[in-house]
Amino acid sequence: MIQSKFIFVLGGVASSLGKGIISSSLAKLLQARGYKVTIQKFDPYINVDPGTLNPYEHGECYVTRDGAETDLDLGHYERFLNQPTTQANNVTTGRIYQTVIEKERHGDYLGETVQIIPHITDEIKNRMKLLAVDGQFDFVITEIGGTVGDIESLPFVEAVRQLKWEMGVNALVLHLTLVPYLAAAGELKTKPTQHSVKALLELGVQPDILICRTEHHLHSGLRNKIALFCNVESTSVIESIDTETIYNVPLLMREEGLDGEVLRKMNIKDGKKPNLTEWDNFLKRLKNPVHEVTIGLVGKYVELKDSYKSILESFVHAGAANLTKVNVKMIHSEKISDENADETLRKMDGILVAPGFGNRGIEGKISAIKYARENNIPFLGVCLGMQCAVIEFARNVLNFDDAHSTEMHKRTPFPVIDLMESQKNVEDLGGTMRLGAYPCTLTENSKVAAAYGKFHIEERHRHRYEFNNKFREDFINAGMIPTGIYEEKDLVEIVEIPSHPYFVGVQFHPEYKSTVASPHPLFVSFVKAARDKA
Ligand code: GLN
Repeated sequence: MIQSKFIFVLGGVASSLGKGIISSSLAKLLQARGYKVTIQKFDPYINVDPGTLNPYEHGECYVTRDGAETDLDLGHYERFLNQPTTQANNVTTGRIYQTVIEKERHGDYLGETVQIIPHITDEIKNRMKLLAVDGQFDFVITEIGGTVGDIESLPFVEAVRQLKWEMGVNALVLHLTLVPYLAAAGELKTKPTQHSVKALLELGVQPDILICRTEHHLHSGLRNKIALFCNVESTSVIESIDTETIYNVPLLMREEGLDGEVLRKMNIKDGKKPNLTEWDNFLKRLKNPVHEVTIGLVGKYVELKDSYKSILESFVHAGAANLTKVNVKMIHSEKISDENADETLRKMDGILVAPGFGNRGIEGKISAIKYARENNIPFLGVCLGMQCAVIEFARNVLNFDDAHSTEMHKRTPFPVIDLMESQKNVEDLGGTMRLGAYPCTLTENSKVAAAYGKFHIEERHRHRYEFNNKFREDFINAGMIPTGIYEEKDLVEIVEIPSHPYFVGVQFHPEYKSTVASPHPLFVSFVKAARDKA
């Protein structure tokens, strides 16, 4: 295709209906028909990016290869499509305004009054079209965060209205709504959907396809009713029923004919069927495990599962690869101590200590690692989890009293984790960490080299602190070995304890790279080690 086609995905009635999964599933189906597809997300909040947000706000911050701190939906896009996203795939209101205000200060508007329409909406439209510029994608799917009717999303909906008008058949609007089941009446209700489409119509946007999230099947009478009230064809009323795993959704959408409906509406004649053989194989492995393990995920944001979204999904991929059902037990790091570690962790086949920032819960993480190390329980430490493994080893094996990271204890006598040189003069918090992909060289005969099956890897980072090379020899002599190095700067990226069945700490975030088609080698080897123990 020469001209990229645009599909906008909006949501109504309530948040959390799964726009990200629907966008990813549609993208998967189009990709499985041989099209080149990308997905981008526009978030209506004023933060320039989600990097400064607490995970309790919108869940995990996902990091792209090129170092953008983004919304967690980008993780779904990558996991479904097995293709990297970039800075351009996530844009917030804050970013839009920042650009417009910078242009204004620069004098670019030549004396005009700068307004929401057309200046903000033009900037939104430019960003929406950015990924289509050199024709690298047949389809650009754009997910608009928030819910139609929110004040915050108005400029985005207005931009969609304008683009739909400009592009005609090359633009399509999907609207995701809720069809709730009222138990007392024993009925599915269409009124919230009608109201939400009305709200969209008031903004000048007629949706082309409605995707109705529901707990019960939509019968044809109900589909016809929705079609009639919302000016859509009844074939364009698509059911999105609750399902046990998000990875079923592409198949459900295929059954509902979503991809075919999209192509038909865009006048694209295509006799092919989506080829989902690999996806089907993954689901078969996922649904027919022959082993079972329990992994303790130790972190301080465990109340909100979205805080560790990519880690949880990595376990799903690695579980399927190992034909193993992975139960992840979330364990609050503030509730663990040396005294209760045995009681809390005894039943775990593996322990993962999560990434994080700040002092809260840090001692619990260290106690969990001590327990894993001393009891030969497979351990994977990710970012802060790796740093805690280094601190634990320093305190309990090297007998470095009060060893710590200078993030938590500025004047520790043993700063085994310390601020990177390049971070020492950083003042702004937004977008200033060590971010994105860096190469790493693995040591021969290490567990990680065996897991990856190669010596040169590239992984994504998001941190300010590092292993302190001043103590490198002490660690090596006592049995904690750096097995992954960023050679250009001689930074330790991985530590291992070879005498332990599986003890690996990584300064990077392997979870950002795990996809359905390509489960992450470290998660795969960790689950295997847990299985061998179980
Ligand atoms: N707080 C640590 C640092 O900045 C670890 C960050 C993380 O776990 N992502 O280095």
